[in-house]
Amino acid sequence: MKAEADALVAAVERLFSAGVMSHSGHGNLSARLPDERMFLTATGMLAGISTGDFATVGLDGTEHDGNLQPGSREIVGMHAVVYRERPDVGAVIHTHSPAVTGFAVAGRPLPARYEGLLRFGQACDVPVVPWAPRGSPESVAGIAAALRAQPHTAAVLLGNHGLLAFGPDPPAATHLVIALEEGAEAEWRAAALGGSAPLPPDALEAVRASISRSRP
Ligand SMILES: [Zn+2]
Repeated sequence: MKAEADALVAAVERLFSAGVMSHSGHGNLSARLPDERMFLTATGMLAGISTGDFATVGLDGTEHDGNLQPGSREIVGMHAVVYRERPDVGAVIHTHSPAVTGFAVAGRPLPARYEGLLRFGQACDVPVVPWAPRGSPESVAGIAAALRAQPHTAAVLLGNHGLLAFGPDPPAATHLVIALEEGAEAEWRAAALGGSAPLPPDALEAVRASISRSRP
């Protein structure tokens, strides 16, 4: 799992260097492993994370190595549900990226109206999952329901909380988090100018079709 650890540490460094982390530096991320398992951050603070700060956990919640800190057990279901619902997903990232989290706290879907979102796989509005306690069955069920209702989305907003984004591998998921934060910042600024303009519907359709073709 050296390769997964290296990729996830590199992803964390990229998220911080891009300036998309919240003041607290809170977040967690994971990569899919063979045999219905994932490699997951074992601690809630990502700053200064190293390759030893991960745990191997089954998608059914089974702990394989005892590395998981008690506070991180709550995030297992949030990550595992994405891998169970989306066989093509290889990495999941949770952050409180400030501009995106504004939409999550407002309970407003983030519109897909920014070129960067299309480029990194988000060709539909990002849906909001209603708030429920972190890691609770209600929260996990809400994520599953949002993914089924919107099969094209590569991210969900966790209501009153933050962002959950995913992709085929850690670099792709990282790029998407950065694009989402840029898109959310652009929405805030466009609002001061009278609001963002929609992309042509056929542009979104074309990107969705291209993403579907590239799935395994
Ligand atoms: Zn959080």
